[in-house]
Amino acid sequence: MEIARTVADLRMHVAGWRKGGGEIGLAPTMGALHRGHMALVTAARAECDRVVASIFVNPKQFAPTEDLGSYPRREAADLEMLRSAGTDLVFIPAVGEMYPTGFATLIRVSGLTDGLCGAHRVGHFDGVATVVAKLLIQAQPDAAYFGEKDYQQLIVVRRLARDLDLPVRIVGVETVRDEDGLALSSRNIYLSAKERRIAPSLARILQSIAGALARQPAAVARELARGTALLERAGLKVEYLEVRDAETLAPVSAEITAPSRVFAAAQLGRTRLIDNMPISIPRSAGGERSEPTHGVGSG
Ligand code: AMP
Repeated sequence: MEIARTVADLRMHVAGWRKGGGEIGLAPTMGALHRGHMALVTAARAECDRVVASIFVNPKQFAPTEDLGSYPRREAADLEMLRSAGTDLVFIPAVGEMYPTGFATLIRVSGLTDGLCGAHRVGHFDGVATVVAKLLIQAQPDAAYFGEKDYQQLIVVRRLARDLDLPVRIVGVETVRDEDGLALSSRNIYLSAKERRIAPSLARILQSIAGALARQPAAVARELARGTALLERAGLKVEYLEVRDAETLAPVSAEITAPSRVFAAAQLGRTRLIDNMPISIPRSAGGERSEPTHGVGSG
């Protein structure tokens, strides 16, 4: 497994592989890797000839009040996990390599970033869009892998790739969970033992809402009110709980008529948890579109 710390070094390796033909897959991460990240690498390994993973804690996607300073960093353990998953190259740039003095460009995907996490994390998606655009231009992968755990991010990245004519397939990978349902996250290490026991209620309640709406697609308002009450009772401070169109992220406030998902963010002690789940609806209600599923990329 090669390690590149500069863009020039990354480009040199990728150029060599390109000459030999074959597809290159990229899995961007912020490190502190877990099985969720490894699912991206595994999907890339299955579909591509070469797999590049990146580890970069991107300061531009953290607000000044957020956890940039305390975000977990575990390079040696991360490299070991990536090596055993068959990664060909890990790109680990320093902040100065990605944002040298004088860096002045910001990429903003409008509309899609207005709601959900975008409404609560000022500037977050501008930081994400900027770093992802850079990584896609630097590594020039044929496919790039993003988790459905951060579903809004996946949709934003897909839009960005289309809008900037980047010749890359953006692939969504299903959320990997612990046995009790909690979506794996590098931030779960912030949870105290007591909070860790409470945390799975987020996934459980989203599952319950998704199940109820699959049976009664017109009960969106009722289910969101019920879900909010359940989350608060479990000890979670709800930031948002919403149903949105799975493709356009348009809010669904009354009845589900197209593939949709239920999204939530909640504070548990000092940890911010997010999760989302698909709502299975009868074929007749779904029109022509179908839910993007695991491993199926589009544009
Ligand atoms: P992060 O390191 O948190 O920025 O995440 C890097 C990538 O891994 C993003 O595309 C995430 O959506 C994805 N990811 C994080 N957690 C999970 C998970 N539990 N299941 C699937 N993908 C995940």
